Order: sequence, then structure tokens, then C-alpha cells
Amino acid sequence: MSTPLLEVNDLKKHFPIRAGFLGGVTGHVYAVDGISFSIAKGETLSLVGESGCGKSTVGKAILRLFDITGGQVTLDGTRIDDMPAGTLRPLRRRMQVVFQDPYSSLNPRMRVRDILAEPIRNFGLAKDAADLEKRVGDLMDRVRLPRDAVGRWPHEFSGGQRQRIGIARALAAEPDLIICDEAVSALDVSVKAQIVNLLQDLQKELGLALLFISHDLAIVEHMTHRVAVMYLGKIVEVAPKRELFAAPKHPYTEALLSAVPVPEPGAQRERIILKGDVPSPINPPKGCRFHTRCPYAFDRCRQDEPALRQTEPGHWSACHLHDRPAAENPLAGAKGAALIAKH
Ligand code: SF4
Repeated sequence: MSTPLLEVNDLKKHFPIRAGFLGGVTGHVYAVDGISFSIAKGETLSLVGESGCGKSTVGKAILRLFDITGGQVTLDGTRIDDMPAGTLRPLRRRMQVVFQDPYSSLNPRMRVRDILAEPIRNFGLAKDAADLEKRVGDLMDRVRLPRDAVGRWPHEFSGGQRQRIGIARALAAEPDLIICDEAVSALDVSVKAQIVNLLQDLQKELGLALLFISHDLAIVEHMTHRVAVMYLGKIVEVAPKRELFAAPKHPYTEALLSAVPVPEPGAQRERIILKGDVPSPINPPKGCRFHTRCPYAFDRCRQDEPALRQTEPGHWSACHLHDRPAAENPLAGAKGAALIAKH
């Protein structure tokens, strides 16, 4: 997993706020404010954070659903953020998306066969009608749905089955990268697990890269290689899954992890309840954006913005605590994710 398939460098998306009859710009929503990461071929990177942190905007920016404010997005060595729409078309095929809501993301007036055939036709992937039919059947097999269900309408399926159709539609284009934008959030717990398992299997079978956008760390724990944690438009920590879950290096990650149930019977994490709400992305706090809620904030945090830097090989964190002696850093070592015995 050494060659980056996707590289995002200093990505910014600021939405203008317009007011009044003439629609003059009165401010900006700093939805994404300078984030960088990469995803290797065949890798899963999970982008996690609370609702409104900007993670879905990142996915949409990569897919070029709107123009970005700044930064670069590179797919397999080709910069795509400034590419004209016509030139972008073949590269679009290589990046597909699965949305959160399996009810609204499928056209209710199309049978499953047509939903799956559409991207195959659009990208000219089938040799002839027989090849098209075979590809549609193969896609049904891939997502573990019966082939004879291709003649049915979306409303005839359960939520989990519809999400399987959404995944099959994404696979129809033969992508290298799938962006899963809260793809299992709307599903029941048991169905969630089935869809996560399916995505994992497909990744192994097809060598796909996944950008898995989720607010739920418990879900990503079982399926990701690395995790990037976002807070108010910034990435505050990136690390391999095991390292991040065992010893988070950022207070926000520590707080998110404290809410994740521990599988071992008789053990639990010490729950950290963050005070206050997430500040507005229209007027983010000066210094560290997390300082208004951070239990460890000190004077410097209110003035200087911490840079994302490597604290251990492959483990990056943006926090001034790393400049303090270990004895004064509550996140030094594995203390942040320490389990405490229930009894
Ligand atoms: Fe908390 Fe300060 Fe670290 Fe920000 S820089 S996470 S406020 S300790």
C-alpha cells in the first residue's frame, strides 16, 4: 500500500454567505479549511468526526460536485481539481460514491436492471447487450442479491438490500476508489454489520480503495486501515487504526473513543463528556479550534493554531501538548484509551 491512489493537499472549501436583495457576500462557512491526506491502492481510510465537521464536504469536493476554494486533489498522479469537465469524465469513472440514504439515492422509477446498466452504458463498458446483461448479473452476485431480483423496483427491497444495490451501482463503473458517505448510518445495527462485512469482502476481492466517511468510530474500528479525525474543518489526528484506538494522541479523539463500547466483558472506557457545542464554522475559534471544549486547554491553545505533525511513525496529531514534557501531557503513552475495570 505504498503508491497513493488519491492525494488531497491543503484542501479548502469555504461557502460564501449571501444576504440581502443583491446577494452580497457577508461571510463564509469554513467547512473545510486546509486538510491533507492520501489513500493507497486497496486501502481504507476512515474520515470521522461529529456532524457538521466538514467530512462529507471533503467527499463531495473530491468527487468534484462543486469547485474547491483552494488546494489540490490528485488521482493516480493526475491533478483533478482544476480539470475541465470533459477531460475529467474518464477519471470520474474511477471514483464512485455510496450515499447514506438508500431510500432517496435510487431512482424509484427505474428497475434494478436499469439502475445497474446505466453506469455500464454511460462509460461504454459493455461490448454488447449480452455482455451488459452478464455484467448486471455479476454485480447482483457480488453484492449477494438474487439475480432474478433485477426486474424489481427499489421500493420492493429492504433498506439493507437497497444499500447493496447502491454498492452494486458504484461497482458497475469498475472504480478504483469508492467514497462511502455515512453509507451505513441509516441502517439497523445488524444490517450495518452485514454491509460493513460486504464492503470489506469487496475491497479484498477487487483491490478497491475506500474513503469511509462516518461519525461512528465503533463502526470504522472493524473495517479500516487508518483513521483521520476531523474537527471543525481540520484534521486533528491521523493514524493506523490499531495505534489510534490503543493510544490516541489528540484530546478530541480521546473523547470520541471514550464513547465507543469496549468488547471485553467487565471492562469499559472512562467516558469523557465534552462541554459545550461545536462552535460555528462561520466564526471558528482562534488558536486551536478545539480549545473551547478541550479539558486540557492552556493559554497557548487560545492563541496559536497547532500544526498537524508526526508524533510516532505514521501517527500525526495537531496539539500543543506534544511540546510539553511527558509528565505534563495527559495523552503521553496509552493513558488516553485506558480501560478501567467495572468492578
Ligand atoms: Fe486541547 Fe490545546 Fe491540544 Fe487544542 S492544542 S487539543 S486546546 S491541549
